[in-house]
Amino acid sequence: MTKYKLEYIWLDGYTPVPNLRGKTQIKEYDHFPSVEELPLWGFDGSSTMQAEGHSSDCVLKPVAVYPDAGRVNGALVMCEVMMPDGVTPHASNKRATILDDAGAWFGFEQEYFFYEDGRPLGFPENGYPAPQGPYYTGVGFKNVGSIAREIVEEHLELCLAAGINHEGINAEVAKGQWEFQIFGKGSKRAADEVWIARYLLLRLTEKYGVDIEFHCKPLGDTDWNGSGMHANFSTDYLRDVGGKEYFESLMAAFAANLQEHIEVYGPDNHLRLTGKHETASIHQFSWGIADRGASIRVPHSFVNNGYKGYLEDRRPNSQGDPYQIASRILKTIASVPTKKASAA
Ligand code: ADP
Ligand code: MN
Ligand code: MN
Ligand code: MN
Repeated sequence: MTKYKLEYIWLDGYTPVPNLRGKTQIKEYDHFPSVEELPLWGFDGSSTMQAEGHSSDCVLKPVAVYPDAGRVNGALVMCEVMMPDGVTPHASNKRATILDDAGAWFGFEQEYFFYEDGRPLGFPENGYPAPQGPYYTGVGFKNVGSIAREIVEEHLELCLAAGINHEGINAEVAKGQWEFQIFGKGSKRAADEVWIARYLLLRLTEKYGVDIEFHCKPLGDTDWNGSGMHANFSTDYLRDVGGKEYFESLMAAFAANLQEHIEVYGPDNHLRLTGKHETASIHQFSWGIADRGASIRVPHSFVNNGYKGYLEDRRPNSQGDPYQIASRILKTIASVPTKKASAA
C-alpha cells in the first residue's frame, strides 16, 4: 500500500471571482486512485463565504483526479461543493449548472501576467519598459527576462504530467504576459483542466515570490494589452451538420443573450472590451469571418466547410470562471432549434 497525498481542490464562494482552495488528506491505496475511489470530504464553509458560522459544514465531492508531479505520491482532486446532504449542489457550485454533453468541445486560451512587487515582471520600478511590439512570441532577455520562461516551462511539465490537455503556450503582447491553451472533449473537461492549470501555476510561483495577475486589464487605460480567455467551442451538430441558416440563428441567440454572456465572462470586462487591442465593444454583439475585432470570430475553415466546425467567442476574460462560461455558451446553443437529420 502507498500513502497518497490527496489535494482536494475547490472553488470558494467569493464573487464575482471565486478563489481556489485546497487541503490535503492522506489515504492508502495500492494503485493511483480513480475518482470513484475517492471519498467525500468536508470543510468549514464559514471561512470561504460558503456557510454561516453556526452550521458551517460543506461537502467536497471529487469529480476529477490528476497525478501531482509536484509531490511524491500526490494527486490533485478537483471537487464540486455540495450541501451537507452530499447530493444538492451548493449555490457557488457552477460546474453543476453545465449541461452534460459529451459532444461539446471547448478550447480555452488563458492569458495572464506575472507580477512582482506590484508590477508586471520585467517592468522597471518607475515608468514602463519599451512599448509592446517585440514581446509577443518573443525571445531573449530584454523581451522575456530571466525567470518567466523557467516558470512557464516548469508549469507546462506539471500540467502535462497531470494529463492536462495543453495544446500550446506562448509569450503574449505585453511584457510579463503569457498564455496557455487547453482543449477538452466533453462539456466540463477543459474547464476542469483550466482550473487545475491555474492551481498549479499559483502554487508553483509561490517559491519564486511571483504572483499571477488574472485581472483583465491590470495596466488600466493604457496602450498595454489586457488579458482574455477566448472560448473556442463546438458541438456535434456544429461540427457535423452546421449550415448557414443554423449559424445565423445561433448568432441571433448570442445577440439576444448579450447581457447574460457578459455577466459571466469575467469582471471589469468593460475596461478590456473597448473595440481597441483586438477586442469588440462590450455593448454590441458582432461576428466576423477571421475578424479579431468581433465578439465571435468565425474561422475561415468554418465557412469553407459549409458553416461547420468551431467558433471563437473572444469576449471571456482572463479572470472568468470557465465553468460559468461553458455553462452559458451551452445554454444559448441549447435554445436554438436544430433540424433532425432528414432521410436522404
Ligand atoms: P488563436 O490565438 O489564433 O485564437 P489558438 O491556437 O491560441 O488560436 O487557440 C485556438 C483554440 O481552438 C485551441 O485551444 C483549440 O483547441 C481550439 N479548437 C480547435 N478546434 C476546436 C473544436 N472543433 N472545438 C472547440 N475548440 C477547438
Ligand atoms: Mn491564442
Ligand atoms: Mn492570446
Ligand atoms: Mn484566440
